[in-house]
Amino acid sequence: MGTNILIVDDEVGVRDSMNEFIELSGFDSFVAESAEKAIELLKTGDFQVVITDIMLPEMSGFELTSLIKKEYDSDVIVMTGYSDDYSYEEAINVGASDFIIKPVRLEELLLRLKRVLKERDLSQERGRMMEKLQKLAVTDGLTKLHNSRSFYSQLEVEVNRFNRYKHPLALLLMDIDRFKDYNDSYGHIEGDKALVKISQVIKSCLRKLDSAYRYGGEEFTVILPETSCKEAQFVAQRIRTVLDTDKFKPQPGKEVNITISIGVTQYCPQEELSEFIQRADKAMYISKQKGRNKVTALIPEEMS
Ligand code: GH3
Ligand code: MG
Ligand code: MG
Repeated sequence: MGTNILIVDDEVGVRDSMNEFIELSGFDSFVAESAEKAIELLKTGDFQVVITDIMLPEMSGFELTSLIKKEYDSDVIVMTGYSDDYSYEEAINVGASDFIIKPVRLEELLLRLKRVLKERDLSQERGRMMEKLQKLAVTDGLTKLHNSRSFYSQLEVEVNRFNRYKHPLALLLMDIDRFKDYNDSYGHIEGDKALVKISQVIKSCLRKLDSAYRYGGEEFTVILPETSCKEAQFVAQRIRTVLDTDKFKPQPGKEVNITISIGVTQYCPQEELSEFIQRADKAMYISKQKGRNKVTALIPEEMS
C-alpha cells in the first residue's frame, strides 16, 4: 500500500509545486483548496499525513487539525507564512506532529514528512506491542484460555452488570478427575497436552457471550452472562459429555478417557464474589463425592 499525503492550501501555486514534489519523492499526493474539501477527501480514503496551511478561506488549518485528530487517523503538519502570529506550541496543542514556515523549502518539508512517517510507524509498532502484551497478561500460556487473573476481573465486571440489569449470571467450576493418576501414568508432558485438548473441548461447547478460564492447574471456570443456573447446567452437561466421549492417546496404541467434575451456580444479589465462587466450588466438590464425571448445581437458598 502506498503512502497517501494530502496537501491543503488555497494558493494554487503552492499546492501544485508541493504536489509535484511529493509525487516525485515517491508518495501518493492529493490536494484540496480548503479545509472543507480536505474533509470530503478524508471521508473517502486513508491519508497518513495531511499537510495544511493555517490561513484558509473558511475553516482554519488549526480547526482542521483538531478535527482530524478527533475523527481520523492521520498525522498533520501545519504550515504558515506568519511565523510570529502562530506559535509552534499552538500547532502542537491542537495535535499537529510538526510545523513548517512558508515559503516552504521543499527539501526541508520532505525531511519533516519522513520523520513524521517514521514516528508514526514506531508509534503503531508500539501500539501493536502493547496489545500483544495486554493479551499475554490475561492469557494462560499453555491452554490459551484466559488466566485466573482475568477471571477475577471479568467476574467483577459481570457482577457489576448484574447489579445494573439484574439479568441472571451463572458460573461453572470444573476440575479434571484423577488427573494426578494420568500424569503419573503417562508423564507431565502428556498431562499438559491433555490440558490443552480439554481446554479446546470446553471452548467448543460455549456460546458467544461465555468465557472460559484456566482457574488453577487442572481447574477451569466458565462465566455465563445472561444465563440461569438451569441453562448453565445444559452447557456443563455438554462439556462433560463431549469430554467423556473423546479419546486421549497418551501412548501409541493406547486410548483413554478423561472425565471432569463440574459445579454450577448462579449469582445471588448482594453476595460477595468469594461466596459466589465458593458455591460453585462446593457444587464441584459434590460432583466429586458422587463419583466424579458429574454435574451438580447449587442454587442459592433465597432463590430456590
Ligand atoms: P480429583 O479427581 O480428586 O480431582 O483427583 P486429581 O488427581 O485430579 O486431584 P489432585 O488435586 O490430587 O491432583 C491434581 C493434579 O493435577 C496434580 C498435578 O499432577 C496435576 N496438574 C496440575 N497442574 C498441572 C499442569 O499444569 N500440568 C500437568 N501435566 N499436570 C498438572
Ligand atoms: Mg484440582
Ligand atoms: Mg482433579
